Amino acid sequence: MSKVLVIAEHLDGKLNSSTAKTVSAAAALNPEAIDVAVLAADPATVAAQAARIAGVTRVLTVANAANVHAVAQVLAPQVAALAAGYSHVFAPSTTFGKDLLPCVAALLGVNQVSDLMAVEGEHTFKRPIYAGNAVVTVQAPAGQVVVATVRTASWPEAAQGGNAAIEAASVDAALPTHTRYVGLAAGSSDRPDLQSARRVVSGGRGVGSAENFAIVYALADKLGAAVGASRAAVDAGYCPNEMQVGQTGKIIAPELYVAVGISGAIQHLTGIKDAGTIVAINKDAEAPIFEIADIGLVGDLFTLLPELEAALA
Ligand code: FAD
Repeated sequence: MSKVLVIAEHLDGKLNSSTAKTVSAAAALNPEAIDVAVLAADPATVAAQAARIAGVTRVLTVANAANVHAVAQVLAPQVAALAAGYSHVFAPSTTFGKDLLPCVAALLGVNQVSDLMAVEGEHTFKRPIYAGNAVVTVQAPAGQVVVATVRTASWPEAAQGGNAAIEAASVDAALPTHTRYVGLAAGSSDRPDLQSARRVVSGGRGVGSAENFAIVYALADKLGAAVGASRAAVDAGYCPNEMQVGQTGKIIAPELYVAVGISGAIQHLTGIKDAGTIVAINKDAEAPIFEIADIGLVGDLFTLLPELEAALA
């Protein structure tokens, strides 16, 4: 029977929903136990949130002033030490997990399984390759710990309602001094987080300028949606890099995705493969985005968006 250690992703005392999705992937193994590790300067608040995730056996807290910021090189030796006795170590395939788990895998001397999208067996998993155009089945060697990042867009959040025990773990690990936290440069926004939002409105090159993006923000505000962008819009300077959706941006799975002035290049579609309802607004009726859209509006976005906004009001 397997025992899974899930590494919690959190920021400012709030557990990221990617953790509950990772627990769902862990549950697909039908394991003997799923423990969630919370590494923080003061893990109590986050641990209480993790304990409420259904299916979690124990929450292990590692309190250390060095864990005040999620620096992979600092967290990795602690996670590697915690991994003893576990058959699997999982973390979400977000920036956090993609940064941390390769360090953990290297310390444990194993290869990492990336972007786990389905569990076929204790050591057999499915993951996307070629920008999501193909799915490959990978087999991790039996007899050694499986270190895997979990493709969050492929898994629902595990339900709430759990009541796991919270235990302080003591970790004996030498922390490196070669990597230190300097600062976090992130855009501040009152809008929902792009990666976990239930609704997303994205703008593309067709929006035309940074100023014109106001029209995309206005519709998003009406819908209570996060705002994303195509790479062309980011490269043209209409919006910051962290808004990019797609192969080299964020992979998202909102219930509603509205693509405005986006042609639907394969690298963009990779990022929205698991979205629920896709709405496309484009003046070119031949745009590839209409091939995957559930609802398509052919027309000028500068006419259609204000009309939509008015209808929503
Ligand atoms: P365009 O393809 O230029 O499309 C603009 C669309 O707007 C057109 O369909 C046009 O008809 C429409 N339009 C114009 N004016 C209006 C108007 N007034 N009203 C309505 N519609 C209008 N792209 C991503 O998005 N994300 C990625 O992560 C990503 N990663 C990549 C990785 C690699 C290795 C490579 C090679 C490319 C990647 N790309 C990515 C780029 C991708 O190939 C496309 O170039 C990009 O997605 C195009 O963005 P776009 O649809 O906004 O622009």
